[in-house]
Amino acid sequence: MALPVRVWTNARLATLDPRRSGLGIVEDAALVVRDGRIAYAGPAADLPSALLTSSDVVDCEGRWITPGLVDCHTHLVHAGNRANEFQMRLAGASYDEIARAGGGIVSSVGKVRAASEDDLVLESLPRLDALLAEGVTTIEIKSGYGLTIDDELKMLRAARRLASLRRVSITTTYLGAHATPADYRGRNRDFIRDVVIPGMKAAQAEGLVDAVDGFCEGIAFSPDEIRLVFDAARALGLPVKLHADQLSNLSGAALAASCGALSADHLEYTDEPGTNAMAKAGTVAVLLPGAFYFLRETRKPPVDLFRKHGVPVALATDNNPGTSPLTSLLLTMNMGATLFGLTVTECLAGVTREAARALGRIGETGTLEVGKSADFCLWDIGEPAELVYRIGFNPLHRRVWKGE
Ligand SMILES: [Zn+2]
Repeated sequence: MALPVRVWTNARLATLDPRRSGLGIVEDAALVVRDGRIAYAGPAADLPSALLTSSDVVDCEGRWITPGLVDCHTHLVHAGNRANEFQMRLAGASYDEIARAGGGIVSSVGKVRAASEDDLVLESLPRLDALLAEGVTTIEIKSGYGLTIDDELKMLRAARRLASLRRVSITTTYLGAHATPADYRGRNRDFIRDVVIPGMKAAQAEGLVDAVDGFCEGIAFSPDEIRLVFDAARALGLPVKLHADQLSNLSGAALAASCGALSADHLEYTDEPGTNAMAKAGTVAVLLPGAFYFLRETRKPPVDLFRKHGVPVALATDNNPGTSPLTSLLLTMNMGATLFGLTVTECLAGVTREAARALGRIGETGTLEVGKSADFCLWDIGEPAELVYRIGFNPLHRRVWKGE
C-alpha cells in the first residue's frame, strides 16, 4: 500500500490543463497525490507546507511529468496475425480486394472463434505490456472478431480480465457491427437483428460494455444499418462511437455526430459538413495514423477543418492484426506529426486529454488536475517535443497509475 499522501517535487509538469495554454506547463512544480488522486499540481512555491512535513516525498530530479497516456482506440484482444495479408498487399492487392476475397477482418474471426478466453488473454498480454512500457495508463479495447454472441462476449471478458492482471484502466467497447460473418453475407440487417443487437444486450447485462462502436464503410455496414445499431445502444443508455469515412465518404462522421457519438474515428474522407456536425455535437476526431501508414493511404484526414471548427483531435494506435499492428503511442504521435501535420501540442493532447475525452473519461484522467486519478508518467527528456520527435526510442522513467 502506498502512503495516503505522496509529494512529487523538483518536477516540470505538462499538465494539459485546459485552463492553462498549450501544454499547460508548470516549471519548478510539485504534484501531490492523496489516496490515489491528484490533490495538487502546480508551482512548488505555492505548495501548502503542511503537506511537506507529513508526506512521503519523491525527488523527480527535474524530470518532466505528463498525464498517463490514453490509447482510445484498439482491437488489442485478438488471435493470430495477418502477416500473410501484409505480404499480399506488398504484392499489389488492395484492402478492398483482400476483404472481398474473404480476407480482412473475417480472416481474424476464425482464429478468435477457435481461441479460448484464456488464449485471448495470454496472446494479448504482450501487446498490452508494450503499451504500458511507454506510459499508457488507460486503454480502450474493442470486441468485433467473434461475430457470434458467445464469441463477442468471450472477447469482452478477456479484455476485462487484462485489467485484473496489469495496473491499467481498461474500457471495453462492443463492436458487433465490425464485419458480416460468412453465414450472413449479403444479409446485414438479419445479422444486426439476430446477433449484433442481442449480443449488445447480453454484454450490457453482464456489465461488459462501456460503449458501442460500428464500422460504417462500403465493405462493412451502411449508415442506415449503423443507425439500427446505434438506436439499440442508446435505448440501453450506452454511448456510441464509429469507424467513419476511412476509405470513402459515406457521411459517417455526420451520422456519428447526429447520434451524439463520443468519437468518430479514422475520418480520412470526412468533409466540412461532417466536421461541422462533429463540432456542434462535441464528437472527438480520433485519428489513426498507424492504419493510414500501414495501408499506404494518401488521403489525409482534414486536420485544417478540425482546427477551423474546433473539433477536438485524439490519436490512437488502432492496434489490430490486419491494418495497424502497432503497439506504440510514442510512434503514433510521431506519425500524427509527420503524416498528418499535427503540432507537438496537438499530438500530446491527442494521447492524453483528448483521448480521455473520446472515452468519456475526461473527468477521471487525461490531465494533471486536482481530483483526477493520479495517472502520470515521468520522462527522461529535456523538453516535451522529444516525445513526438524521436522514432523508436522510449524515454519513460516511471509510470504511475492511481498513485502507485
Ligand atoms: Zn479500429
